Amino acid sequence: MPGGFITNALECIGTLRVEDAPECWEEYHPKGTNIWSKDAPISSAFHPYNKSDVYECKHCGCKYLRYTECGGYYVDERIRELNINLIT
Ligand SMILES: [Zn+2]
Repeated sequence: MPGGFITNALECIGTLRVEDAPECWEEYHPKGTNIWSKDAPISSAFHPYNKSDVYECKHCGCKYLRYTECGGYYVDERIRELNINLIT
């Protein structure tokens, strides 16, 4: 989440979380991407998308995926623009 990123224009419209689903921290990178790659595939069964909520910008209709990464000593808000071409 970039500093100064305006989140109050974003409205939660759904979630990819499945209640009572077993925890899955595996990522899906068949083409050698990583979690930060701009072209990393979006697969709802895999981390972090399986923990993400879907948000829509009230101004332009852009969709975003958001989740909160909780490490041992930090809480990190993460957001990615939803690019339908990357959904697998
Ligand atoms: Zn917008």
